[in-house]
Amino acid sequence: MLPTVALVGRPNVGKSTLFNALTRSRDALVHDQPGVTRDRNYGVCRLDPERPFVVIDTGGIAGNEEGLAGATARQARAGAEEADLVLFVVDGREGPSALDDEILKWLRKAARPTLLVVNKVDGIDTQTALNEFARYGFTEVVPIAASHRSGIDELLEDVWPRL
Ligand code: GDP
Ligand code: MG
Repeated sequence: MLPTVALVGRPNVGKSTLFNALTRSRDALVHDQPGVTRDRNYGVCRLDPERPFVVIDTGGIAGNEEGLAGATARQARAGAEEADLVLFVVDGREGPSALDDEILKWLRKAARPTLLVVNKVDGIDTQTALNEFARYGFTEVVPIAASHRSGIDELLEDVWPRL
């Protein structure tokens, strides 16, 4: 069985863009076995053929009756519980939001190994973006620009040893 990495974060931070960059596919391999929820997308990262891992995009929420915060928190928890490693994806342009704080609380409860991935650092000062998230207390923080495929190799160097 392949190790599993979950992409967790509030809507619009770039989880699906990162998912596509890692799996190099737009049509994710979707599991249709019972018990695998529809709101999670599964793919395999084979950027190093010797070290493949499953990627879960916990994305697909639109606001429903639970509200955005509830749905995001629930998906974050479900994704985290399935994963060997969680990538907590945040938006380096917008900085931390209340929803990020909420997700972080769930992630701490899930107590899974977690890296903070600060996305969308293209065209902005990376260090300033990272500093905004310093209070989250992560020792491992990786800046990327998923839509430019920038920082992906560095991210993988942090991911592989933790699988
Ligand atoms: P998700 O809701 O977390 O899955 O976010 P998406 O992957 O759908 O991306 C949300 C928006 O952010 C889209 O318009 C993307 O094109 C944009 N986006 C994603 N990654 C980057 C990035 O690295 N830089 C910039 N500037 N925009 C990005
Ligand atoms: Mg998405």
